[in-house]
Amino acid sequence: MGDEVSLTGVVEMTVRAEPLVQLIRNYTNALRFVVHEVLRKPSEYGRWRYIKRSKRIKWEHDLRRIHHGFYEVLKCRFNLTPKFAIGCEREASMIAKSVINNENNGENRCVIKSYRARCDYQSYSVKFEGDKCYLRLQGLGEFEVNGFNKKWLDKYKDWRFGDLIMKLRGTVVKLYVTLKKVVGIANPSEKAVAVDLNFEEVVIGNHEFEARFRTPLRKIIHLKKNHIEKTQKKYNRKWGYVKGIRNAISRWWKRINGITNDFVKQVSRRIVLFAKERGYDTIVLEDLNGLKDEQAKLKKTWRERFAFFAYRKLQNWIEWQAKKEGLAVVYVNPANTSKTCPKCKSLNTEFRERILICKNCGFTMNRDSVAVINLVNRWLSILRCAV
Ligand SMILES: [Zn+2]
Repeated sequence: MGDEVSLTGVVEMTVRAEPLVQLIRNYTNALRFVVHEVLRKPSEYGRWRYIKRSKRIKWEHDLRRIHHGFYEVLKCRFNLTPKFAIGCEREASMIAKSVINNENNGENRCVIKSYRARCDYQSYSVKFEGDKCYLRLQGLGEFEVNGFNKKWLDKYKDWRFGDLIMKLRGTVVKLYVTLKKVVGIANPSEKAVAVDLNFEEVVIGNHEFEARFRTPLRKIIHLKKNHIEKTQKKYNRKWGYVKGIRNAISRWWKRINGITNDFVKQVSRRIVLFAKERGYDTIVLEDLNGLKDEQAKLKKTWRERFAFFAYRKLQNWIEWQAKKEGLAVVYVNPANTSKTCPKCKSLNTEFRERILICKNCGFTMNRDSVAVINLVNRWLSILRCAV
């Protein structure tokens, strides 16, 4: 076994309880109030400090002064319990800090749009009794959870509870329970498989085997063409200004996002289990960091940008699932991995349809199979150099 890493998972649940709705409203209003006040008089609630490295003056919050200034107000005027009042002070100072120091992309104003509240692991608990599930909040009592997926009981059996985030969706409260676990992961080894994504399929494999999973990208293109683009064309330039049309379009985008998310979650799980069952402990992925700038510079079509974005998502999920199963994930430079002949390493190749033909040694192979083999080869050569 190699490293130990901390894994985070999030579980979504639903509660209908007036006291929680009230709490979230109060908390958010309190948060807005504190942030506003701190932004109005930053010197009163923190200090300015010159940072040599960045040659900039930065504001640092002083939690004691913020506590002194707001604790009673949060309790009396906003009806927060001591735990929530302290949590609110903390969150507000972090928000104020990032606004004052201009850490949020030059956005100098601060608008807390959605109603939500945060609560640390010591202030809440979730417990199960038979078929029912209850959320207990310190100082507020117990609430029955209406919507929760029983599957995660098994999935997160031996995990620790982390922060709880509550969000208001109409009259319903959505709970986002964070769960944490420290896991051991394998030392990356030569028992490796690589993953390659093309438009139609996700390919996993190496010299010995290969498996393919169909992607929903074609379906997504169809949705975009037949629903979003048609609507936009029909209403021409007006569509951006009419609320109903804008909402319809954003509903389609949500659906597209939902399809992508379901796909990456499912396929990442299958990929990781597939590798594990066959005795592999290392998954090789393309390192896309170098590509980012090039991607930005080139005028890519929507389709290509979307595929890139989906691949990023897929990678994050594979990494998460791999950690959960104790597998290692490594990233290698993907340059030319689909053009190099895996047999003689020559770059003197050409494609006919999706078949790579090596002009040097005559070797032919499907393009995606070439990519996974080359990715694994690249990893093996890094491994050999390191020894
Ligand atoms: Zn060759």
